[in-house]
Amino acid sequence: MPKSSVLSLVLAITASAAIIDVPPPSSLNSPWRSLASDPTVTYAFKTSHDGIEWTAEEKSVVFDAIAFIDAALPDQAFVESGDFTLRWGGADFFKDWRGPGFMDAGWNLTDDLAVSYKHDNGPWKGMPGNPFPNNEIYFNQSLPWSFNLGGPVAGKYDFWTILLHETIHMLACDNHAEHEDEVMFPSVGLGQRKYPKLSDVQILLNAGYTVNPAKLTSTPEPGMFWVGVVGLVLISVRFRFGRSVQD
Ligand SMILES: [Zn+2]
Repeated sequence: MPKSSVLSLVLAITASAAIIDVPPPSSLNSPWRSLASDPTVTYAFKTSHDGIEWTAEEKSVVFDAIAFIDAALPDQAFVESGDFTLRWGGADFFKDWRGPGFMDAGWNLTDDLAVSYKHDNGPWKGMPGNPFPNNEIYFNQSLPWSFNLGGPVAGKYDFWTILLHETIHMLACDNHAEHEDEVMFPSVGLGQRKYPKLSDVQILLNAGYTVNPAKLTSTPEPGMFWVGVVGLVLISVRFRFGRSVQD
């Protein structure tokens, strides 16, 4: 299962930040709706069109990131199987989709890290046997990924961070954030892990979700070392949140 190539190594050396997903999944007659009134949000793992399965290690990062956002949404429970699916994508998907005639989707996904594909507006729209149905998250299998739960790894893209970004898109949050350190900013650096900022929380609030910001803006506990620090982190998060509200 080659997830890196000569090309991606070149990209890793030359690029300081990579596009996560451009264009964002906004406008264009999206059939997607907020799941804010649904008690459960379901997801599933799919095999890529060229046969790549999800490994146990990769799934463990998915479960961890989804548990992270699940804890912050008191009205929803995330359950494996349904509303959105996760799939590795190769050059059949991460390519320049701009072209003549009906094949012109108007976007170039060549360098994207991942895509929340939830608009039935591509070249395959309405065609039988559409290999790219709605509600799939595709991850670019040609790029160097890290599945380390404890933190980011130099020279690799942090799968945990990108999964969080795409999952929030799948909750009908189509917009991107404005600042580089926000999860919903459209690009991320190699070896960079991001935790949601208040602007990311606001994107969820705008889509109708009840959000516990302390759960989203505090860092998960990487090990026993942090047990004694959690209280302090929560206090600082609450302080920061309260101050921002007053502003
Ligand atoms: Zn995005």
